[in-house]
Amino acid sequence: MSERAAPFYCPYCGDEDLRPHEEGHGAWECAACNRAFQLKFLGLLTRGLQPNSTGGEPI
Ligand SMILES: [Zn+2]
Repeated sequence: MSERAAPFYCPYCGDEDLRPHEEGHGAWECAACNRAFQLKFLGLLTRGLQPNSTGGEPI
């Protein structure tokens, strides 16, 4: 298993029959609805790391 982020369900039809797309890099294709999609890591959320930095409410 070299894939870091593997979806369990198709985000479009909800089927589990997913397989890596040939383009790679987090690309998957769904055999059920014939869609290809890509997972992309956008970055870490800062929310919660510095709870008081925004002067917000306590968690
Ligand atoms: Zn699908």
